[in-house]
Parts: sequence; structure tokens; C-alpha cells
Amino acid sequence: MCDATKAKRHNISLFPDEYGHLLKNSFLCSVMRLCYVFFGLCAAIGLMGCATASSPGASVVSSAPVMTSTPISKGIFAATLSLCDGDHIDNAPTINARKNIVQYDPYAYVSGVTLVRAPVRRACFSSGFGNRHDRTGLHKGIDLSTGHPHAVYAAGDGVIEEMRTTIRYGNMILIRHNNDVKTRYAHLSSFGSKMHLGHDVRQGDIIGKTGKTGNANAVILHYEIIVGGTPQDPMTIGR
Ligand SMILES: [Zn+2]
Repeated sequence: MCDATKAKRHNISLFPDEYGHLLKNSFLCSVMRLCYVFFGLCAAIGLMGCATASSPGASVVSSAPVMTSTPISKGIFAATLSLCDGDHIDNAPTINARKNIVQYDPYAYVSGVTLVRAPVRRACFSSGFGNRHDRTGLHKGIDLSTGHPHAVYAAGDGVIEEMRTTIRYGNMILIRHNNDVKTRYAHLSSFGSKMHLGHDVRQGDIIGKTGKTGNANAVILHYEIIVGGTPQDPMTIGR
């Protein structure tokens, strides 16, 4: 029940500092009443809609999967990603004449989670997922070069599960998006000031800056998408 209504009904005297709070509650109550009226109308319209949908020949609408919802960071990340100039690039995706990756979709839809494929801005693609010509071991992610330290964004909503420094990854953050899906961000020059273990992040939140900590030899973001404990290629998964 609304405090203002209760106070009026029981003739309770109010202290000034409570007054603002109660005024706010009173306003909220008015809004809630309007909502009840509004949603009552919506429910009636919804029932009419159901009656229409059940008529013979009407198209069947299946339950909409979460992955088709509009990403909350839509518009932040570029619709194109290009290969970096210069050296040989391992496992490079197919590109067009302008060096843009063909059929690039800035979002991947993975096990009910919408993830950004390249969670940095103004970056180029400098190394692909898989075995590399000059190093042993699987490259478990992609490298995105930014030249100078730039913001790194959370690829999707989730919780920071790891935030530490290792010899290989340098400064690294691991975000858990659900029980199956995680993303890793490595070689950071710094962590975002509000970041800590257990912190809730939303897609597009700045979690750190690109860097060359660990075994990186340029200012990059090493980015992994991990599904069920296995790293996947961020360029191809979830199309
Ligand atoms: Zn890498």
C-alpha cells in the first residue's frame, strides 16, 4: 500500500524529511493506478488478439527466442570490421576489396546470449582463431589491434568471474554470461575503475583498456568466446 494513503487514513503526522519521500510515493501511486487502467485495456486487446490468431488459416507465432531481441548496445559497435594492414594475418576471414570482412555481423547469438563479436571500437583484425604460423598451440580467440589503448566493452550482460594478471594473458577479465557462455578479454593496459569480482556488467559497459600486457607484442585486445568450457571462433559462432 502507498505510505501517503496509509498516513492520511491513520492521521499520522509526517516529518519534513519523510514528506518528500511520501510525496514521491503518492506520485508513484498515481502512476501505478494509471498503469492498472492501461494494462487492463491491454489485456482486453490481447484477448481479442488471441481470438483472431486462433481462426483457421492464421499464421502460427512460435515463442520468440531471446536471441532475436535488439542488442542493448546497438549503434555503439561498427557494422564493419577490417583486417589490419601489414603483416601476415593468421586465419584471416574472407574480405572484400576494401579489406572489410564479408558477411560480418557485429553480434553473435550464442546459447540465448547476444554477444558483441569485436568489443572495441576503431580496431582492426590482426589475428584469427586457430593455429598460427609462428606460434605453437591453439590461438583461443581473436586479436583486435587498436594502436593505442582504447576502451574495451563488455560483450554481453553478465558477471565478472575472473579479474587478474597472468604471465600469458597479462591483465585479464573473464565474464560469465550464463552457465554455458563466457567471454575473456586479455592484454589490458588497465581495468575499469568500477570493475571487481562479482560485478554485474551490461553489454557496452567499459571494463578496461586495450594494452600489451602479458605475451602481447602490440596494443591489442585478445578476445575469446567460450561455450561449455571450449573456446569458439568469435567470427563464426552464433550466426
Ligand atoms: Zn590473441
